[in-house]
Amino acid sequence: DWVLLTGASGFVAAHCLTALLDAGYKVKCSVRSQEKADEIRKRRASHADKLDFVIVKDIVEPGAHDEAVKGVTAVVHTASPFTLDDKEDNRKYLLDPAIKGTVGVLESIVAHNPSIKRVVVTSSFAAMIDLSKGLRPGYTYSEADWNPITYDEAVKVKNGAAAYCASKKLAEKAAWDFVEERKPNFTVATICPPMVYGPLEHSARLDALNTSTADVYRLINGSCKTVPETSFYAWVDVRDVGVAHAAALNAPSDRYFITAGNFTYTQMCEIIARHFPQLVNSGMTPNPAGAPPPPEHYRVDNSRSRRVLGMSYRTLESCMIDLVNSLLKLKATE
Ligand code: NDP
Repeated sequence: DWVLLTGASGFVAAHCLTALLDAGYKVKCSVRSQEKADEIRKRRASHADKLDFVIVKDIVEPGAHDEAVKGVTAVVHTASPFTLDDKEDNRKYLLDPAIKGTVGVLESIVAHNPSIKRVVVTSSFAAMIDLSKGLRPGYTYSEADWNPITYDEAVKVKNGAAAYCASKKLAEKAAWDFVEERKPNFTVATICPPMVYGPLEHSARLDALNTSTADVYRLINGSCKTVPETSFYAWVDVRDVGVAHAAALNAPSDRYFITAGNFTYTQMCEIIARHFPQLVNSGMTPNPAGAPPPPEHYRVDNSRSRRVLGMSYRTLESCMIDLVNSLLKLKATE
């Protein structure tokens, strides 16, 4: 069976691609340029006959995925901007690509390939968290939670992280509403990961890292002198996120919170200090000794993903070792 993977050049998508190929699927990758298609083809030379490519320059364009959806039986939609910096125009840079991108894929399916039965949408913990409640000590987030932000608030909000979270909430909600209102032939399942970390399988450059990888790179490149305050207290290994997307192709239509649990940057630095002591000794990694204990914060419940998708989660230790090695290797080759 062929599966369409949108945004295939991305950090998370590369691991979705691995998991889909491992599960025996053939994958049609949508990317923004021929160059990106060639890079993926080169990295996946041993799977040449299981890959196809389609160029989609901008998911916001009406009908952007009309060609992409042809010839597949399912879709994994990952393409969406992930940046947390403040924007001068939330609509243009975040809300339109997230929401119109998602609804656009669904419209293309209805118009051009009604034989598609399942669409897996990469949503986020961002679609669940209520930022107005702060760290919510004593509270446990689960799939029952929805970020309460509205479209009008999202257009106006000045904080980049809040605008990104809004884009994910509104895009996921739009997918559920589409199914409810239009009753198409397909059903959806949504994957909601918090901060995603792990080794890089896509073509990356140190000066243009994806947001969550850059979040760790700053902990090993000398730019943090002390351990920064944690912003989102939940994480998951990118390899597990890939596996979850593949599993969700054949699971009940539902939301799935894909998380290994809570974490702090202090724990990350402790792991780096244990396995890469030279980074702390040379001042590239902030010394975690004496970092203040984290404030009380929310917990996360991954029981549905374990029960229904059969997920088991990698440890922060193995994630960090593989990610730091990946970054050091990239640094050595640039
Ligand atoms: P990346 O930036 O690596 O991937 C984003 C992908 O989306 C890229 O392939 C990018 O293409 C594509 N894309 C973005 N905007 C457009 C557009 N307008 N038209 C066409 N393609 C577009 O980030 P991630 O891999 O981290 O993110 C992938 C998904 O995972 C997103 O939906 C994100 O919200 C979600 N997610 C990520 C988390 C994380 O911690 N990394 C946490 C939770 C959810 P190009 O590279 O060519 O610009």
